[in-house]
Amino acid sequence: MSDQHFETLAIHAGQPADAQTGAVVTPIYQVSTYKQDGVGGLRGGYEYSRSANPTRTALEANLAALEGGSRGLAFASGLAAEDCLLRTVLAPGDHVVIPNDAYGGTFRLFAKVVERWGVTWSVADTSDVQAVRDAVRPETKLIWVETPSNPLLGVSDIAALAGVARQAGVRLVVDNTFASPYLQQPLALGADVVVHSTTKYMGGHSDVVGGALVTSDAGLGEELAYHQNAMGAVAGPFDAWLVMRGIKTLAVRMDRHSANATRVAHLLSAHPKVTQVYYPGLPEHPGHEVAAKQMKAFGGMVSFRVDGGEEAAVAVCDRAKLFTLGESLGGVESLIEHPGRMTHASVAGSALEVPADLVRLSVGIEAVDDLLADLSQALA
Ligand code: PLP
Repeated sequence: MSDQHFETLAIHAGQPADAQTGAVVTPIYQVSTYKQDGVGGLRGGYEYSRSANPTRTALEANLAALEGGSRGLAFASGLAAEDCLLRTVLAPGDHVVIPNDAYGGTFRLFAKVVERWGVTWSVADTSDVQAVRDAVRPETKLIWVETPSNPLLGVSDIAALAGVARQAGVRLVVDNTFASPYLQQPLALGADVVVHSTTKYMGGHSDVVGGALVTSDAGLGEELAYHQNAMGAVAGPFDAWLVMRGIKTLAVRMDRHSANATRVAHLLSAHPKVTQVYYPGLPEHPGHEVAAKQMKAFGGMVSFRVDGGEEAAVAVCDRAKLFTLGESLGGVESLIEHPGRMTHASVAGSALEVPADLVRLSVGIEAVDDLLADLSQALA
């Protein structure tokens, strides 16, 4: 592993100046195939861009460096990354422990897609280490964790869960989308695989959909790369380039997201129309101590419940002006949404159902006073 600091790796890892032109930014190799010098004579190892593409290779090397892994793989979306991982490591008859708070699409992948192929799953509160230990069965192959979780900002102790996984001989997967590798490094804490929706903080500008897997297990990395090519949901060159460009400023963005979100969480905590605030940076958050131990700062996501129920929560979303009403998160601009009707509609009626009066914020990097003023008027 490199001894350079995160901010330096974010800008340089996997991206030497272009050998032919000296371009300081990795070019977008918008190409599907490569001239061979005689049959099988590959220049630089490239033969077809589903298998490998130089722009994607640069991103994949960068992702591996930032997460402290040996292998990074870039996909067309976060769910494509998850799908590749599940179909690489699971077989009919296997069981997976999934969290009681997770992105709705992740739950849907387990409950509506993977289950049909004979994989069973059960839900555990992953913030409770004993609950996860109890949920593991002889046929369990994976423990899946999102921390902080979407949308309730639950915090799970990665090092403790890695211990549970090791003892049980199963793999620990951590969805690191909310934290990003700048704030949290799951592989160093013992996780086997890190998952990202690079659509979010890694891309950072709401202009690309992408996903990633990173592992420090060389054998698993090979198997994942084999399946990435065999299944084909790769990141295209322009999308890979956009994610790489976003990552260069990840550290400064995450510092600002975290600072702004802290101010927003405090405003909401003191507001008479708000009944509960979910932000791991608040000392009263049940996962605050664990978050302080495993995260550098607490990130840009804040959720809260509104006095007056679902209609009141929806009204707050409608009244916000600077916070744009929309799905997704992690961009420079602030977003607001109603998880029950939007991002988490697919968990309705399940163990992952979210409160109807919940509002989720992706706090952007605008001037914080403008954000506070907009929330105050939306809640008034
Ligand atoms: N993981 C988390 C925590 C997410 O929030 C999302 C999307 O919102 C995903 C995974 C799926 O990523 P994508 O939308 O890029 O497929």
